[in-house]
Amino acid sequence: MVSPPEPGGAAFELPDVDADAVAAHMSAVVQHRTITVFGSTGEPQPGADRASFERLRRELAALYPNAHAAMQLEIIEDSLLYTWVGSEPDAAPVLFAAHTDVVPVEPGTEDDWTHPPFSGAIEGGYVWGRGAIDDKLGVIGLMEAAECLAARGYRPRRTVLLAFGHDEETGGTSGAASIAAELSRRGVEPWFAFDEGGAVIEDMLPGVAAPVALVGVAEKGYATVELSLEGEGGHSNMPPPHSTIARLGEVVGRLEDDQFDTDIRGGTSLMVDAITPHTPLSWRVVLANRWLFDPLIAAVLGTQQASNASVRTTTAVTRFDAGVADNVVASRATAVVNFRLLPGDTVDEVIAHVREVTDDPQIQVRCAGVCREATPSSDVDGEAFGLIRDVVASVYPDAVVAPYLVIGGTDARYYQPLTEQGAFRFLPVRLTPADRARMHGTDERIAVEDLRAAVQFYTVLLEQSSK
Ligand SMILES: [Zn+2]
Repeated sequence: MVSPPEPGGAAFELPDVDADAVAAHMSAVVQHRTITVFGSTGEPQPGADRASFERLRRELAALYPNAHAAMQLEIIEDSLLYTWVGSEPDAAPVLFAAHTDVVPVEPGTEDDWTHPPFSGAIEGGYVWGRGAIDDKLGVIGLMEAAECLAARGYRPRRTVLLAFGHDEETGGTSGAASIAAELSRRGVEPWFAFDEGGAVIEDMLPGVAAPVALVGVAEKGYATVELSLEGEGGHSNMPPPHSTIARLGEVVGRLEDDQFDTDIRGGTSLMVDAITPHTPLSWRVVLANRWLFDPLIAAVLGTQQASNASVRTTTAVTRFDAGVADNVVASRATAVVNFRLLPGDTVDEVIAHVREVTDDPQIQVRCAGVCREATPSSDVDGEAFGLIRDVVASVYPDAVVAPYLVIGGTDARYYQPLTEQGAFRFLPVRLTPADRARMHGTDERIAVEDLRAAVQFYTVLLEQSSK
């Protein structure tokens, strides 16, 4: 079947896929409880159940014998790095990332699931279970693609790397970071890296009928800032006029009120440009004159919780610790504020902003934990993005393809610095607003028809990018 092309793009022939067989594979893979969790004090505990990762590895080897015969496998920490050696050793390789770990099921919500979260039940046209989308879809999709291509005797020209991290959900500090370090040590410079991120979003904007296929071209930065205050403690029967808790609480409240300014930049700007032709005429007048209306557009987007994060550095107060007993005035209070940085805003600027708003020399402000800048934007004018756009358009001919800024984090940020044209972040799945709540939530599931499209997508992209 040949799909109508995106204007200027190529339409690729899509391979036949036995979607029921893929669903059975997904069911088997979902049943491995490859959960990563943060410890009680917030530090990542990747591979909490290391045996489950080992069982998943063996499952993949059993399900995909041709892929495993064609590729070499290295186990790095509990992550998997497959290398499919290309016929032209000097050609830059292509790197596809996914992650085998999943987030836990929130305690107390197990019974809310239609099917138990690790059952892998296949019912009603769906495979149900934690990880069915995030990100065992990526793992399965890539392995199915490699299996299909290897079975028909395909030999890539460029070396293909499949990098499956085992701790993406806790930051990738062990898995993707170690794989990237090893590739860097070997002098590997991929043409591009491809990872999860955006998806085909249904009902993204009122007035835009077409689904929007969002391909992430950059990721926001991240800064965990701790504020701490030491003060007068003592017995609560003779309290000081101002407790540390009240003083710090007041400051944290001001930080929440004093948000960063909105702005349309980088990936968000590219997204607005791509979507504009598909908006109602009344919007187009505004969107086509962005030199004039950008502040207004940004301000409107900033009022909506869903789009706010695309147009500003966000401020989230996430922890507050103080006090030891009902009748003791706390001598120390700490608060943690998590910022997600818009490209162009820096960690230093965030710290300076906190100090300025706090305006109290007794309050200590420091980066506590992870503080990193936003990634640079990948090359959207290069051949890699052009190819990805054409493959997306071939598999999802009804969708508008748009670059965008990824709000969360992915393993791609570790690989991006190694590449020639950057990292692109897209998971081939159609998501309604309700589906988006299922990821990391209750009743995560993938439609069998979405599995078919996903395998077609990865097969075409893997072959076209490596041939
Ligand atoms: Zn994920």
